[in-house]
Amino acid sequence: MAWSRANTVTREIWETLLESPKIDTHEHLLPQETFADSADILFSILSKSYLPWILFGARDLHRIAWDRDSLYQAMRKIPASAFRKYLERAFSFLYGFSGDLLKEEDRRVLAGKIRQAYAEKDLVAEWLQGRLRIEKVVLDRYWVVNDYTLPGDFFAPVLRIDPYLYGFSAQARDHDDQTPYAPGEEKGKEITTLEEYLALIDRRFQEGLTHGIVALKCATAYDRGLDFPEVPREKARIALEKEDGTESPEEILDFQNFVFHYFLQKAERSNLPVQIHTGPGKSFRGAPYRLGPIFERYHSLKIALLHGGFPWVGEPGAMAHFYPNLYLDLTWLPLLSPTFSDLALSEWLEVTGGSRIMVGGDSWNVEGSVGAFLFSLDSLARTLGGMVEKGYLSKNDAQTIGKQILWDNPREFFGPRLKLQNSGFTAG
Ligand SMILES: [Zn+2]
Repeated sequence: MAWSRANTVTREIWETLLESPKIDTHEHLLPQETFADSADILFSILSKSYLPWILFGARDLHRIAWDRDSLYQAMRKIPASAFRKYLERAFSFLYGFSGDLLKEEDRRVLAGKIRQAYAEKDLVAEWLQGRLRIEKVVLDRYWVVNDYTLPGDFFAPVLRIDPYLYGFSAQARDHDDQTPYAPGEEKGKEITTLEEYLALIDRRFQEGLTHGIVALKCATAYDRGLDFPEVPREKARIALEKEDGTESPEEILDFQNFVFHYFLQKAERSNLPVQIHTGPGKSFRGAPYRLGPIFERYHSLKIALLHGGFPWVGEPGAMAHFYPNLYLDLTWLPLLSPTFSDLALSEWLEVTGGSRIMVGGDSWNVEGSVGAFLFSLDSLARTLGGMVEKGYLSKNDAQTIGKQILWDNPREFFGPRLKLQNSGFTAG
């Protein structure tokens, strides 16, 4: 935020939010060495950010060849993109960078500072735990299946269900190229019937609980639409039990819809919350309203809709009126569009009063997480500050709500499985 232009109330709220303890609901953080060991550290950080998504298109990202030169060349065309701005914000906050990313010389200076920081410091401890006061990060490692080896208890894992929607065939993969199968538990060998497949899910779910998962995570909107009609078991088994490669699109959907409900039923029985990616994705069939029937069916299961369902940010807010088990996760929305983030927050605050709203960083490196959190705090401070200006909220209530969003709401959503050391801020 351009502080010279922000008013005093907004600035004060922002400062309060920065100093407040936080629970980060969603990250994909990679080990520091991933970047520290790369020859071009700045390019490796930019490559693992949302910048390439807007430069080359999320649809084409893994199909086209792009490199350092094409990235910096394409960057010239997008000075107003929030996917560029949040990174500049992070570089300024973390490294005091005020140069121009388009200039080779400025990039060399920035890369030098980054390299030094990566060599000397634990950036997660320094910035996420230290400066941002994040006390727990919910980590979604979508690139591994049934692997919960995390460094220390700062991170809490989730079970990603996407690969299990692709177990109908030994060859099928989700958008992250994942399959549920592993040696000793393979389709066509150990697993040939739907019952054997559900037993695999039962085992994996139990292993997840044993290893401390705090939620199920579903990002299948990158692969398919978010309509999940209930399917009888006899229809669901067809895709799995017939020869690989002969499944019809309808048989695949039957299988996936059944497996999705199977996971949700298990989660409801274990009081395990679910995070669902809504909004951008395959053919833009990820609008939150499509999950209406899911909320009619599951009453006690806590479900967070991520990203505000961008661009349909009004939908989850409206649905929150009807469904008390629906949580609104702002994650990524401030980077997709700060304007839509402010719009979503205004509506959500008026609807939920400040409860059930949460936020995460959704990034692969500390630069991304810091940039995302700064953009989120900006949006929160602007929206809450604006409500104070208009006389809708007292400053005290605005600050209380801000702390609730950063701490109390996610603590309520994930429950005791988060194993928080500090009780932090408590509104009630
Ligand atoms: Zn994510």
